[in-house]
Amino acid sequence: MMATIAFIGLGNMGAPMASNLLEAGHNIRAFDLSQEALAQLANKGATAAHSAQAAVADTDIIISMLPAGKHVQDLYISGDTPLFDHIKKGALVIDSSTIDAETARTVAQAGAERGIHCIDAPVSGGVGGAVAGTLAFMVGANDEQFSRAQPILSCMGKNIFHAGASGAGQVAKACNNMLLSILMTGTCEALNMGVKNGLDPSVLSEIMKQSSGNNWALQVYNPYPGVMETAPASNHYQGGFQVDLMYKDLGLAMEMSQLSASPIPMGSQARALFTQHKAKGNGSLDFSSVMQLYQDQ
Ligand code: NAD
Repeated sequence: MMATIAFIGLGNMGAPMASNLLEAGHNIRAFDLSQEALAQLANKGATAAHSAQAAVADTDIIISMLPAGKHVQDLYISGDTPLFDHIKKGALVIDSSTIDAETARTVAQAGAERGIHCIDAPVSGGVGGAVAGTLAFMVGANDEQFSRAQPILSCMGKNIFHAGASGAGQVAKACNNMLLSILMTGTCEALNMGVKNGLDPSVLSEIMKQSSGNNWALQVYNPYPGVMETAPASNHYQGGFQVDLMYKDLGLAMEMSQLSASPIPMGSQARALFTQHKAKGNGSLDFSSVMQLYQDQ
């Protein structure tokens, strides 16, 4: 069924996600602090709102895709004009930003006190997945909220997971990306050692892929230049998933570990490696470029 959806935050991810909702036939009332981003989506058929308040007025569904927790908290509850004062009772707020689970729960609780349903639904799949409409959504919500969000999220993603109650989507996202950072650094480490000991990186990659070391990096995202034509490694580490974003996500994992006293020795090590790699000026490269940390210069 066609709905009117307020969409706030039209950046690298938000803009293509909103475009897919438009293509599915929904009406979009869009808002972004950037006039340029707003104008671009208006060209595709969205209504450009002059403020976030105007975008959400009388809207049943609100989606936000903002940089970090402070932006989400400010927008809905603690800024000059808290959006929850302008959202109608019974509305569904879907925040797809990657933020800490604590803030997600705080915002959802503040919404609940006003009769507003607020769920966390961070994504995996990157800009490519956002454009193609194949994102994975990890949702923290109750059953009723999840059922309500599902048809909307399906316009933007392929796999829609109900991770658990409020905040659970953010927990799943932090766990997944921490594991990804460990898999990627481990894969780089093994490939570099093999090559330094005379192996061809393609041969070693194939052996490990067919053996017990098999993992996602070897399957679709080989970090060694030239092994996999379609991987960022074969394109000077351009495109893909930026080191800066992995660094941000590992910061969220560290915070979660701290708050819950969950031991993360491997995650901490991977974070140290990505911090070092970022400090060398590689923040805007694809995260598989962490390969370079291991290689003789
Ligand atoms: P981005 O910086 O490209 O976009 C954020 C947008 O939010 C900008 O256009 C900015 O102007 C807007 N904005 C900020 N504050 C606002 C406000 N108060 N009101 C309205 N608009 C506001 O970021 P992105 O790459 O689109 O990422 C968004 C979120 O998705 C982040 O939490 C990121 O960690 C997560 N994420 C990104 C990727 C990726 O590959 N880019 C992948 C998965 C998850």
